[in-house]
Amino acid sequence: MANWVTGKVTDITNWTDSLFSIKVHAPIEKFTAGQFAKLSLEIDGQRIQRAYSYVNSPDDHNLEFYLVTVPEGKLSPQLAELKTGDELFVTEHAAGFFVLEEIPDCQTLWMIATGTGIGPYLSILQQGDDLERFENIVLVHAARWGQDLSYLPMMQQLEQKFQGKLRIQTIVSREKQPNSLIGRVPALIESGKLESAVGLTMLAENSHIMLCGNPQMVRDTQQLLKEQRNMTKHLRRRPGHMTCEQYW
Ligand SMILES: Cc1cc2nc3c(=O)[nH]c(=O)nc-3n(C[C@H](O)[C@H](O)[C@H](O)COP(=O)(O)OP(=O)(O)OC[C@H]3O[C@@H](n4cnc5c(N)ncnc54)[C@H](O)[C@@H]3O)c2cc1C
Repeated sequence: MANWVTGKVTDITNWTDSLFSIKVHAPIEKFTAGQFAKLSLEIDGQRIQRAYSYVNSPDDHNLEFYLVTVPEGKLSPQLAELKTGDELFVTEHAAGFFVLEEIPDCQTLWMIATGTGIGPYLSILQQGDDLERFENIVLVHAARWGQDLSYLPMMQQLEQKFQGKLRIQTIVSREKQPNSLIGRVPALIESGKLESAVGLTMLAENSHIMLCGNPQMVRDTQQLLKEQRNMTKHLRRRPGHMTCEQYW
């Protein structure tokens, strides 16, 4: 049984009609960058809980979550209605294995996200620990529209901070956007366009691929990397090249 603590909303940013970030103060135990909490509200006498990844560094006590409102969803539309000062429940202990200590050493670490799946990578990169093991890191954020790239300014700041070690690439599927690739993640890997844009190769001998977000993207990309690049899923008992977190 999870232990719950009461959190207080300190800030809400509405990025678009459906994307928002919520900041919370809550007396949680320290988490590891890449992990998720469960958030919960009492709705019609029932406690509804869902998983949400931390965006903030574990060193930052302003807990931050990046959410999309799922139409007809039970919890996300209610979370979208919260205002500063409102209360919600947060699990005291975070969970999940989408963390750097599960990632083997490699030359290039690819962090690929769709939508709100960018959160765990921002937490890892803002903390900045244990990154010497990788010569290059590539942060890829894919979304439908340019306006959905809510954390682009933070991605750009991180790119500057890491001085050449971190490269960022955005992908937009439904419109042309300056500096973004257009299309879907698996197709852009298959055609070699993602690697050309970034200037690095994605090969089993030099890369590890983290995939987070939309389950269809995660499945299709894994399948492609397996077939075209001879990559395998990374397991503790059988090291491989791909580590994934699916959001639904
Ligand atoms: C490990 C983990 C971490 C997660 N982190 C985040 C996060 O950081 N931010 C975030 O927004 N969500 C995240 N999610 C998804 C989140 O837990 C909920 O599933 C989501 O908010 C929908 O909940 P709901 O109650 O509103 O909808 P529900 O009533 O549970 O779902 C209705 C249906 O909507 C679909 N759906 C669920 N999530 C999405 C989605 N994100 N986009 C489109 N369709 C969806 C599913 O088909 C689902 O059956 C994460 C999930 C997991 C497993």
